Amino acid sequence: MFNRLYVHVPFCIKKCRYCAFISTPPQIEELQEYPALLLRELQLRASAAGPIASIYFGGGTPSLLQPQQLAQILGEIAAQAVIQIDAEITLEANPGSVDRISLSGFHNAGINRISLGIQSFDDRFLECLGRIHTAEQSRQAFRDAREAGFNNVSIDLIHSLPGQSLLQWRSELLHAIKLAPEHLSIYGLTVEEGTPFAHSYPAGCHELPDDDLSADMFELADELLTAAGFEHYEIANYARPGYRSEHNSGYWKRDGYLGLGVAAHSFLRDGYGVRFGNPDNLEDYRRGVTTGQLERIGEQRLTQGDAMAEYMFLGLRLADGVNLPAFEREFGRSLESVYGSTAADLVKFGLLTQNESLLTLTRRGMLLSNQVFSKFLP
Ligand code: SF4
Repeated sequence: MFNRLYVHVPFCIKKCRYCAFISTPPQIEELQEYPALLLRELQLRASAAGPIASIYFGGGTPSLLQPQQLAQILGEIAAQAVIQIDAEITLEANPGSVDRISLSGFHNAGINRISLGIQSFDDRFLECLGRIHTAEQSRQAFRDAREAGFNNVSIDLIHSLPGQSLLQWRSELLHAIKLAPEHLSIYGLTVEEGTPFAHSYPAGCHELPDDDLSADMFELADELLTAAGFEHYEIANYARPGYRSEHNSGYWKRDGYLGLGVAAHSFLRDGYGVRFGNPDNLEDYRRGVTTGQLERIGEQRLTQGDAMAEYMFLGLRLADGVNLPAFEREFGRSLESVYGSTAADLVKFGLLTQNESLLTLTRRGMLLSNQVFSKFLP
């Protein structure tokens, strides 16, 4: 059973230097055929659909699809499942791949939320990251989104960039606040194996900030954005009241979702939950959907222990935290009977706070979240 849809579009005009996602530059024919493959997959898997509360087109660069292709996909989803009237329908957009006309087309196609991959307002960093757009193109894309009718726009920013200072990061945050989006996702740069950044930085890029400076950047974002009226509702996410990401909130609350497309992942609410992925290359994916034999890669049926661990480390990401009575209702056992003194010990170390019904990360706990989460693994 699922009530959310994720649609992965595995194409980008050019690979960014830090990117570990599955994406390749597309051939024209691949972009043309891809929606039909998605729709075929939907037909294969739609039987487990409940009323759809959110749809998220991510990538890759889903804004490389034409508005009419998105309209076709959304029309087919509506034919196969019930889409709730207030469903959040997000499109990730690269500022280098949209303009006023395409954004109007996306709005008319039924997209009601845009997530712009701005990453930085400084052209030197954009160049260093290998992004295809300038800071001015990002600002223009934001203005175009507003003119196209989008009243729910999220922007992504990255901190801890090579050579970045705290002062420069402050300037990035002030630029973002001036733009006045409804939502921001803020990540520290992580260098993943297999990316160009794992081996060397191009000329003009300097060493990465150390952990202390990264922590200061995280705290500065918290300070400036909350002062500007944003809720820091998840470790990496901020929203104006009423604009939390409905789709991503579903991930953190363990709602079921179906991932369509190359390398997309799914989580179905069946027992304690089933996770699986799609083939990570177009050829295998195409073969799977056209023959009706789409393999579930790495299928994992969760045990109660797995589900409890997920409940903890996904729930703790949220400022709302883990609701203790809800945990007990879900699993028939109290948190203490499962994890003993783990939570109390983390409270003593200043990483969690606990009241009668809620367990939440402290700000220090957010900075050391992976260490906290590891205490709840089975
Ligand atoms: S646009 Fe996003 S998905 Fe595409 S290469 Fe850059 S970081 Fe990766």
